[in-house]
Amino acid sequence: MDIPRIFTITESAHRIHNPFTPEKLATLGAALRLAAGARVLDLGSGSGEMLCTWARDHGVTGTGVDLSRLFSEQARLRAEELGVADRVRFVHGDAAGYVAEEKVDVAACLGATWIGGDVAGTVELLARSLVAGGIVLVGEPYWRQLPPTEEVAQGCLAHAISDFLVLPDLLASFGHLGYDVVEMVLADQDGWDRYEAAKWLTMRRWLDANPGDELAEEVRAKLASEPARHAAYTREYLGWGVFALMAR
Ligand code: SAH
Repeated sequence: MDIPRIFTITESAHRIHNPFTPEKLATLGAALRLAAGARVLDLGSGSGEMLCTWARDHGVTGTGVDLSRLFSEQARLRAEELGVADRVRFVHGDAAGYVAEEKVDVAACLGATWIGGDVAGTVELLARSLVAGGIVLVGEPYWRQLPPTEEVAQGCLAHAISDFLVLPDLLASFGHLGYDVVEMVLADQDGWDRYEAAKWLTMRRWLDANPGDELAEEVRAKLASEPARHAAYTREYLGWGVFALMAR
């Protein structure tokens, strides 16, 4: 059980698999006013940077669940590197339907809301692990600018304009689910560059090392087209943010 190999090739060197920079992740951790010992669940935890740095900086404890064997292993190594391996644990597996045995203070899913089917389903799933008065964290794209055509949305690697909302509508949608939005931290275009452009050097180095791989042609094509695609579409049209929610 694992994610498609193309992602572990293009994002093997990423610590954060979304348009947040380390600074944004730190801003979010501070914004949430986390207490030492607070319990955090992270579904789709990737390489574990959120849990590991928040354990180091705020003394939280936590569990991350991720379908990528490589990212889960990188998360464990990062926990050791930061000296927090006794406070965070990383489970390799499918997070769909995952509910914590012991309820948590913060339940998060950053950039993987397909785990619960959609945003609403993921909020519902996270809420099942949460103490009363706990915080749900959702990391999700929104339209910075509404795409003028479906082709532009597809240029952002969305299926359709209807995949995402503009920011005011996304914020209002959480209200319709019965939640107060109590904090948010938004990525910016420089953060998108860190997420997207970091893949390019990784792809180039991987191609140099793996010229005969069955995915070499696909990676070569991606490396050739991604910089211009990113500049024309994702960078201009797509926003991304993490939204902190508390049930009304
Ligand atoms: N939250 C992390 C990773 C976001 S990328 C970060 O912000 O850095 C999306 C992650 O979801 C990847 O790590 C991928 O391996 C994971 N993923 C995809 N499908 C999943 C599933 N069904 N269950 C658990 N993790 C999943």
